Parts: sequence; structure tokens; C-alpha cells
Amino acid sequence: MRKTYKYRLLGNRITFGKADNWIFLCRKLYNTALEQRIAIYKQNKGSISCYSQINQLPDLKAYFSEYREVGSQVLQGVIERLDKAYQNFFRRVKNGNGKAGFPRFKGRDRYDSFTLKQVGWKLEGKYLSIRNVGRFKLKLSRLIAGDIKTVTIRREATGKWYVCFSCNNVPERILEKSSKSIGIDVGIKSFLVDSEGNTVDNPAYFRQSEGLLRRRQRRLCRRIKGSNGRRQARVLVAKAHEKVKNQRNDFLHKIANKYVAQYGVIFIEDLNIKGMVRNHHLSKSIADSSWGKFFEMLNWKAEEAAREVIKIPRFEPSSKTCSDCGAVNKDLTLNDRQWVCQACGVLHDRDYNAAKNIARVGQTLSGANVCGYAKRILRIPAPLELGSVKLREYRQ
Ligand SMILES: [Zn+2]
Repeated sequence: MRKTYKYRLLGNRITFGKADNWIFLCRKLYNTALEQRIAIYKQNKGSISCYSQINQLPDLKAYFSEYREVGSQVLQGVIERLDKAYQNFFRRVKNGNGKAGFPRFKGRDRYDSFTLKQVGWKLEGKYLSIRNVGRFKLKLSRLIAGDIKTVTIRREATGKWYVCFSCNNVPERILEKSSKSIGIDVGIKSFLVDSEGNTVDNPAYFRQSEGLLRRRQRRLCRRIKGSNGRRQARVLVAKAHEKVKNQRNDFLHKIANKYVAQYGVIFIEDLNIKGMVRNHHLSKSIADSSWGKFFEMLNWKAEEAAREVIKIPRFEPSSKTCSDCGAVNKDLTLNDRQWVCQACGVLHDRDYNAAKNIARVGQTLSGANVCGYAKRILRIPAPLELGSVKLREYRQ
């Protein structure tokens, strides 16, 4: 299994200054290599391969002494990055994407890292040394497992530095087999509701940080372009963004861990359909990014633990169908938090009812082992028309 570990880097002015200079040189090389490709194309409609551009790197070092200190693999990585941008561009063109953007020249804010491969670095306990740059201290929050393939040093907009170790052969943490399954519905009022009736609310600190972010963004707008004050304001905005992101990720990790630890199969609804639904307790941007990120985490955590997350298709009335008798309440509006089924008289909480439907459809489709509560629901004749759909199509 592949995995990336990210840590904050601590160091002194000199080492960070050197790392900053390496990023600058890499960016310059990237832009030069792009210029070369464009020039060759303009001259005779020709092209130059990644390989031949890499072969020119020794010449670059010979002519420009500032590049001599930068590791050869780091410079190779720059050319490979450009090549990847080209490949992605051609792939988008081939797929008929009308808006396929051509690889761009990178400005200062658009290039913020360099990557080392096997050589030029050494990790000793909490210390990472990079040849010709210096020694950094790592905030080692958890231990690295597997074989380190690449080491990426990154400067973020907040001015903080991070290192990412991309590792291969990371051992899986397979959990004990579980036959339990559950359906999860992302809520309107709360963050999510599951088919066993548990509700997870959005933490209150989301709103506080959101307020902070909004105030700082307003301040940034008032600052004059190019001024010192604007630069400072931009760093403050970046810091607020980082805070929101950290809080959100921390919150999502905890919930995803909980579900993956408890259930063998987790059913979720295709997220796109939620595009219309607005979580009134959070700004749209945070709510949307949270759900997407949450499902992403759920997916890779489940994969890591040999568990399953199954996305089920849009079935029209997931919240409008009574999970007890299957009758459809056509009059339900987005504002109805609760409703009473006209057919059987059961009072439903909107989100809980939807989560139960998701679990039931998922279980019907997958033939998953169902237990207790879920069995009770399954005994009710399924009113949902799913036609001849095959489960396979809904696996990721
Ligand atoms: Zn009913």
C-alpha cells in the first residue's frame, strides 16, 4: 500500500533561505524548460522529449553555477513535473475537453516545492538533513512505515514549511472481520445521520473559524494591491484557511475512523445529488468540501482496513420514501425536518429516514450480511424500483 506522511518542518533562517532558493531555481528551470518546448514547437512543429531535456541538465549546471548545489534528482523531478503537465494536457484534449488548459508558466505563488528521491537526504530520528541545504527538525507526530520513495519539501502560503514522505509497501492494518453494515446520509441540519439513528453535528468551532476567515478576507480586499499591508493580510487569510482545514480534517478523521472500526460495509449515497441541498449551519464551501473529503477519507481508510464502502445510486425519493412501509410522500419539501407517513402513520426524522433507506437499498443490492434492525426493514416489500441494475456498477 502507498501512503504519504506529512510533517511540519522546523529550522533556522539560513536553511529555510536555502530551501526557498531551491524552489526559486526549480521554478526558473520549469519555466525555461516550458519555454524551450514552446520554441521548438513554433520553429518546426517539433517536440522535445522529457528524456532529452533531462540530458541537458549537466550543461545547465556547467553554465549556471547557482544550479551546481541543487541535487540532480531534484532538477530531473522538475522536468518530469513539466512532462506530466504536458501529458495531462494532451489527455484532456484527447478526451475532448474544450477547456483543456495548456501548461502554464509558474509565478511565485504557483510553485512551492521540490522533491528528492533516493539520494541527497538523510533521516535520523527527528532530524532531516538535505545535502547543500541543511538540517531540519521534524514535528514527528506519528512514525513512518514502509519504504520512503520520495521526499518533498513544501512552503505553504502561511509561511510554514512541511515535508511529505511518500512511502511504498506500507503494511495494511486489517481489522477483524465485521458483518455489520450501516447506511450514512449527509445531513441538512447536522453533519450526518446514520441508519442506526446516530447523529453527528457540525462542531461549533467551525462557525467561529469561518467568521474569522470572512473577517480576514474582507480586510484583504481593502488593502491596496502590491502593498506591504496586503501581503500581511494575505498571510493572515492563508493562516485562517489552514486553521479551518486542520479543524475540519481532524473532525472528519475521527468520524471516519469510528465508522470504519465498527462496520464491515458502509453504504453512502452518491454525493452529486446533494449538490442542491444546502447545509444552513455552515457556509456552502465548508459543507461541500467536508462531505467530499469525508467520503474520500472513508474510502481510503476502509481500503486500508480491508473493509468496504459502497456508493449507491441516486434513487429518487431517498428522503421522501417511508423507510417503514415504502410509501412515497410527494409533498415533502426541503424545509420539512420531520414528517408523518400518510400510509402507516410513523413519524420520521428526515435525515434518519433517508439513512435507513440508503442502508436498505445498499443491503438489497449487495446481499450483504444484515443483522437485527436491518433485517426488520428488509422484510418489508421493497417499493423501490431499481430495474436490472447490477451492484458492480456502484462499487468504486
Ligand atoms: Zn409508512
